[in-house]
Amino acid sequence: MSNLLSAFRLATLPAETNKFRDEVKAFLKSNFEPASPDIRARSWMGFDAAFSQKLAARGWVGVTLPARFGGAELDAFSRFVLVEELLAAGAPVAAHWIADRQSGPLVNKFGTDAQRHFYLPKICAAEAFFCIGMSEPNAGSDLASVGTRATRCQIDGSNGWRLNGRKIWTTNAHHCHYMIALVRSSGEPQDRQKGLSQFIVDLSLPGVTVRPIRDLTGDAHFSEVFFDDVRLADDALIGNEGSGWEQVNAELAFERSGPERIYSSIVLLEHWMACLRQSADASAHVASIGRLATHLATLRNMCIAVTHKLVNGESPIVEAALVKDIGTEFEQSIPSLIEAAIGLNPDAPVDAGLYRTLAYVSHIAPTYSLRGGTREILRGMIARGLGLR
Ligand SMILES: Cc1cc2nc3c(=O)[nH]c(=O)nc-3n(C[C@H](O)[C@H](O)[C@H](O)COP(=O)(O)OP(=O)(O)OC[C@H]3O[C@@H](n4cnc5c(N)ncnc54)[C@H](O)[C@@H]3O)c2cc1C
Repeated sequence: MSNLLSAFRLATLPAETNKFRDEVKAFLKSNFEPASPDIRARSWMGFDAAFSQKLAARGWVGVTLPARFGGAELDAFSRFVLVEELLAAGAPVAAHWIADRQSGPLVNKFGTDAQRHFYLPKICAAEAFFCIGMSEPNAGSDLASVGTRATRCQIDGSNGWRLNGRKIWTTNAHHCHYMIALVRSSGEPQDRQKGLSQFIVDLSLPGVTVRPIRDLTGDAHFSEVFFDDVRLADDALIGNEGSGWEQVNAELAFERSGPERIYSSIVLLEHWMACLRQSADASAHVASIGRLATHLATLRNMCIAVTHKLVNGESPIVEAALVKDIGTEFEQSIPSLIEAAIGLNPDAPVDAGLYRTLAYVSHIAPTYSLRGGTREILRGMIARGLGLR
């Protein structure tokens, strides 16, 4: 236990990020018209290409990518600050989110120079949006059993690949230009991690069908994607053939460690507090709010500790799993607590915006502990980190 705990060193945001935070706040003040709380609560599910392009014009999409490709070349601490401010404001970040957080850094790390020159400037200009193709109908948590297959073939006399299979729950595939897909490029399902590769799939290619899926909230933010004999050029392969498993794991540390794993319900919490400030009922809830604030402050420090590891070039997979596990528990507790508080005083009038936001967050909250790896899977990884598996 002590090894894991001492690997979790608390850190502070460098003083230079204070100035950057002020710049982000000023940008939001002049470029983001705050919508109603139920719309702002969608924040990292909110797809708004025009907003992403404004952010890109300010230089803040692909924030950690090299300047020669259009990136801001800032470190992970600055990205933490940017993300924290965008989510706290409820800005719609979904369009550029995945490319900024993980596809861009993945292309930068594992791509060829030609791939970097082709994709990264488009990402930084918010002209290319990416989605993640890991899950499949029969391979969600068990990623090593993906069945989508890329087979070598000739396309117009050149080497290429033929892609067949199906991905599911792909966030915003119906709005994105590219998917980074984890597929089997050699061997058989029983070979598990061996023989998996990552491909950048242009979603406009013949043979790709994207079908949006509507969820409980009525939104269609994810899709099912079918590949039917899709012809891919040789350079659609990213990284080494057969190294997909290692590459995906490196990507998951980016996916699980950010402030989005603690701020999914933050607009709801802020709006509830704003309503309480206007009511005579606030004193009944001070203890609950104090407790939430305590948890949030602790989680935020844990997130910063993980960010520190990313800045140091480490891959803090287990630490990120710890933060995501308790972070999502915290995010899920917020709507439950507000529902209980409203239920305690059923005759008191309730702000309509609070009701709408609560309805949205209550419906979406169960997904917090599914997306990006389920609670049980994360706990398995933590157990492995403790030498129990
Ligand atoms: C909002 C949302 C967005 C998503 N976006 C994307 C995306 O963009 N790209 C993408 O690829 N995927 C995406 N996903 C899919 C997500 O990553 C999967 O839902 C998740 O990995 C679980 O897979 P599954 O749904 O197949 O469930 P399963 O793997 O079938 O799991 C079902 C239940 O069994 C438990 N379980 C499974 N295996 C074990 C085990 N070995 N030990 C103990 N318990 C176990 C799980 O914890 C879970 O409770 C998204 C999901 C959601 C909800």
